[in-house]
Amino acid sequence: MGNVSTDTSSFWTKADKHLMATGVSYSPVIIARAKGTRLFDTNGRSILDFTSGQMSSILGHSHPEIVEVVRRYIGELDHLLSSMITQPVVDLAERLARFLPTPLKKSFFLNTGSEANEAAIKMAKCYTGKFEIVAFTASYHGLTSGSGSATYSAGRKNGGPAMAGQLAFPAPYAYRSPFKKADGSYDWETELEFGWSMIDRQTVGSLAAFIMEPILSTGGILVPPKGYLKRMAVECKKRNMLLIMDEAQTGVGRTGQMFAFQYEDIVPDILVLSKTLGCGLPLASVSTTVEIERGCNKAGFIWISTHLNDPLTAAVGNKVLEIVERDHIAERVKRLGAQLRAGLDKLQEKYWCIGEIRGRGLLQGIEIISDADTKAPGLDIGQAVSDRAMLMGLSCNIVNLHELGNVLHKRVGHPSEWANFPWHCTKSLNISIIN
Ligand code: PMP
Repeated sequence: MGNVSTDTSSFWTKADKHLMATGVSYSPVIIARAKGTRLFDTNGRSILDFTSGQMSSILGHSHPEIVEVVRRYIGELDHLLSSMITQPVVDLAERLARFLPTPLKKSFFLNTGSEANEAAIKMAKCYTGKFEIVAFTASYHGLTSGSGSATYSAGRKNGGPAMAGQLAFPAPYAYRSPFKKADGSYDWETELEFGWSMIDRQTVGSLAAFIMEPILSTGGILVPPKGYLKRMAVECKKRNMLLIMDEAQTGVGRTGQMFAFQYEDIVPDILVLSKTLGCGLPLASVSTTVEIERGCNKAGFIWISTHLNDPLTAAVGNKVLEIVERDHIAERVKRLGAQLRAGLDKLQEKYWCIGEIRGRGLLQGIEIISDADTKAPGLDIGQAVSDRAMLMGLSCNIVNLHELGNVLHKRVGHPSEWANFPWHCTKSLNISIIN
């Protein structure tokens, strides 16, 4: 490489001139190469990638077997007319069905989490003939119209009205919930009943589905207490609503089970996978039952986007699932997750600004606070920790919802007024597995 500093400045000049900002503040580090759990910047500095790219590269970057599949399929079977299905697609649908609970036999494949959730929401509307969708107040399901309407943790402002029939449900956020028992512990049952009472009041009688993450990831690595998901499944059933489980960040082994809904004895009506299924390539899946498939088709459900059931990415998905099974990745995650957690717990003993550590397996979050008594969010400390980590060679995502914090700041004037607002600063550690 030539004069790095000159290259760097021309890189940023061009980026400023021609790349449209989309609300993501760019990392100052320019990455030239990614391999396994490591990123390498333009100076050759090695950085540990604790977020697996955008929480996707579950087997590490450029896994040699995935590279081989991509090379082969780009050369012989890349992309086709959406009505043409191929061997890799049929194999992936079959393989996925083997991993999933028996009723979830039928799948199709798309690109992104937003797109797949959009499809799942549409399916729920078609199948039930109803249109109201419920989601948690700390949810993230995407940014397209339907998935974005069901996303409450970011990106809601100034884009016009949300979809008609979108309703919010209090997220299970034990650390900050106002619902407490006499002994100070989290009273999730009362909160859950309160949530449903609000839904039952607001509904116009058209509840189609509840879309949820089994661990709310972008919203702060919120792990629902034991029994919570099961109870939610019962409440959905009572109201003849479908349960859509969005496992973008949790699926394919990251939490120590193949799918995080398996921590409770439930079977969603629709399961959506994305990020981890493609290990960094754009692949998402929507899986459901034969009965829901039939109902959707009867109601005229249609989904023919350009990359529906593409062979190249399906071949990648097959390889990802093959490796995850063959190398016992979920068990490995359990073991490594326990090791990571023990280390994080030690950090918490040492540093008062770590309010809470939560997560499962290798999906862990650290909530940073600025006041140990009031538990006020520690946005600045979180940012400083994140910046320092990057300087020391560790990339860990800060999902501090800073954007919201700043917006609130501007709106209400002084930070003291919004310090107790339950937006917090969480670092998520979605570690790649292979090194
Ligand atoms: N669902 C969840 C749980 C996610 O975390 C994300 C992405 N952060 C999405 C959906 C949206 O996926 P995509 O960005 O691929 O559209």
